[in-house]
Amino acid sequence: MEIPLRWHRKKDGTTFPVEITARFIQWKGQQVHLAAIRDVTRRIQAEKELELLAATDPLTGLFNRRYFDEHAEKHVTKQGSGGETGLLLMDIDYFKTINDEHGHEVGDFVLKELARLLSVHVRSGDILARYGGEEFALLLPRTSEREMEQIAERLRREVAQNVFDHMGKELRVTMSVGGVHCSNAGPVLAPLLRLADAAMYEAKQSGRDRCVFKRQ
Ligand code: GH3
Ligand code: MG
Ligand code: MG
Repeated sequence: MEIPLRWHRKKDGTTFPVEITARFIQWKGQQVHLAAIRDVTRRIQAEKELELLAATDPLTGLFNRRYFDEHAEKHVTKQGSGGETGLLLMDIDYFKTINDEHGHEVGDFVLKELARLLSVHVRSGDILARYGGEEFALLLPRTSEREMEQIAERLRREVAQNVFDHMGKELRVTMSVGGVHCSNAGPVLAPLLRLADAAMYEAKQSGRDRCVFKRQ
């Protein structure tokens, strides 16, 4: 018999993971039950660290696209009828010029700082991810359309007003935001992402540094 994971309790009440293997053996003419119980705390910890690593963008420390797609999909699918969700896609405007004028390293610095700036506004339950090179996605569960628009506008404004100081060099960036809101039952993530992407494209086309919203 093998039990790969079970939680045992210590005298002090705390629990720890164990792996159990047990078998019957012959011992002094009798059949006895021999069990090995191994503390697998370190293995479980290592597994958790690996999981986190696989879900994280190494540059910014935000969740990556893979994590976002999986977890946003789960949220959207399970929310059922009446659940309100907002989805924002944010893309930095003319980011190439930051790289071209100041170098890739400075571009990386701006990405990291921007990620930190956005993170400040994340509420518990929201999912913020680096969705592409200089594109970020934010899922806003249980959020009304009005709230979503306010959050998007606040993020856009904060970024536009922020001065990124890289060793005395002052840099500014803006971003275009596409937002989509859905309040109907059983949607899937893909069409929401397509709509948010279309909204973001419109924000770019109509001059950048702005938010465009759509409704599913
Ligand atoms: P637009 O306003 O149309 O979005 O212009 P843009 O220059 O931001 O857009 P485009 O998609 O043409 O270029 C994005 C640039 O982002 C290209 C790429 O060099 C840069 N980029 C993507 N990932 C990284 C990264 O990890 N680090 C740095 N430094 N730059 C990156
Ligand atoms: Mg861009
Ligand atoms: Mg882009």
